[in-house]
Amino acid sequence: MNNKLLVSNTFLNGNCVEKGDNFFKLINPADESFVGNLVCSTEKQIDEAINLTYESVGAMRALSRDSKVDILQYIYNEVSQKREEFGRLISLEMGAPIELATNAHINMGLDHLSNTIKVLKDYDFIEENDGYSIHKISIGAVALITPWNWPLNQLFTKVASAIAAGCPVLIKPSEYSPFSAKLVAKIISQSNLPKGSFNMINGIGRDMGHLITSDPRISMISFTGSTKAGIEIQKNAAESIKKVSLELGGKSAHVIFDDVDYQKAIPVALDQCFLNSGQSCSSPTRLLVPEKDILEIEEIAQKHAETIECINPSETKKGIGPLVNVNQYNQVKSFIKTGLDQGLEILYGDSRLPANQTKGYYIKPTIFTRVKNNSDIAQKEIFGPVLCIITYKDLDDAVKKVNDSRYGLSSYITCSNYDDGVRFATSIEAGQTIINKPSRGSVPAPFGGFKMSGNGREHGVYGLEEYLEVKAII
Ligand code: NAD
Repeated sequence: MNNKLLVSNTFLNGNCVEKGDNFFKLINPADESFVGNLVCSTEKQIDEAINLTYESVGAMRALSRDSKVDILQYIYNEVSQKREEFGRLISLEMGAPIELATNAHINMGLDHLSNTIKVLKDYDFIEENDGYSIHKISIGAVALITPWNWPLNQLFTKVASAIAAGCPVLIKPSEYSPFSAKLVAKIISQSNLPKGSFNMINGIGRDMGHLITSDPRISMISFTGSTKAGIEIQKNAAESIKKVSLELGGKSAHVIFDDVDYQKAIPVALDQCFLNSGQSCSSPTRLLVPEKDILEIEEIAQKHAETIECINPSETKKGIGPLVNVNQYNQVKSFIKTGLDQGLEILYGDSRLPANQTKGYYIKPTIFTRVKNNSDIAQKEIFGPVLCIITYKDLDDAVKKVNDSRYGLSSYITCSNYDDGVRFATSIEAGQTIINKPSRGSVPAPFGGFKMSGNGREHGVYGLEEYLEVKAII
């Protein structure tokens, strides 16, 4: 094996361990070329990583608030200085266009670090009551399992809260985003965290995940990823009564009220859906629009979709990049085929390569219209740039359709009166409702799902409290 093409992000006790005999092939999603082999952690290394993490519980609990603030600030500063390097690595590993990778991808990670520092500075870990006090203490050794889609966001929302709570961490990043994870591991290993309290392992989650999720030395799993893997993790964790915090899939709805300017609202709705090539758990992939105005809305949607180009990740113009890997690519193509086989109407796009690309995992922004809410493509998470336009008769019909989903992660409303939006939002079964905002929402606001989108909350105070046990001293 050519050593230059080996990537290892097994970090034990602050040191990168290169040894292993199992490899995972890394492919550039933009041109399908071979990039290198990820060295998967061995069972022995995983056991050692769990042990180091477990043995560090006392040292992490003893860290002062100021020390934790300093450590998080150090990580923040290092990531900020390495913005360009992180951007290049993220763009290479998961195909995000370089502008998106260098800006939004990095900013989301940094925002979680800075917001957690703010929360940590003011948080009351001890509450005095009449005759007793409540002490909120670190839950113990935690394992953090993350996906590839917004790699820094996923790592730092978990790592920042875990460190702030005083938990030693074992991280298992996605095998599809090992480059950015390795740089994160190098930075954290050089911080002042107590020795042994930060460890990273990697490999194919479905093959080695049980070694972490069933181990009694781990007190809590924080997992972000597919609902299928979340169910398996929860089952594996049950024997040792671990806390399991799950951030899973979504099929979020965006309701457009009939009192808005469609020329403004529809392009924004499409851009939100297709951002990151539709590979965001909270993407608004079901667009609910007033039935009476469907013709006008379709015309605007089609015109806007025509302006969205599939670009090579190295290009700096506006556009969307390829999907992360061949499995994701085939899955999205097969959903488009299912929609067509079931007689649904395509307004724009298809699953052939865009005319300006000869290889790579590109899918054009694709819009199905007048979709029945109970059809497969409206109910299942596609995780690609595929939008379903669904009509509603009135707002009662709209809320029924929004909630007729096994998922409940995010939701969006575009309306002319914010208070009308708030009234409507209270009927929606989803962890977040974003009203009249083009962005994904707010950094301090809690993020998480109802129903099969999960049971955990991340960001800010709620994110910190996931990693704390409540102890009463009487
Ligand atoms: P995935 O479930 O395939 O993998 C996520 C992580 O879990 C990876 O590190 C993987 O190696 C590991 N893993 C997989 N099976 C495992 C198992 N049985 N035991 C332990 N670990 C296992 O998901 P993905 O393809 O990386 O990411 C896409 C999915 O993540 C989508 O469903 C998306 O909606 C979801 N997601 C959710 C959120 C959220 O906050 N709710 C955010 C981003 C992505």
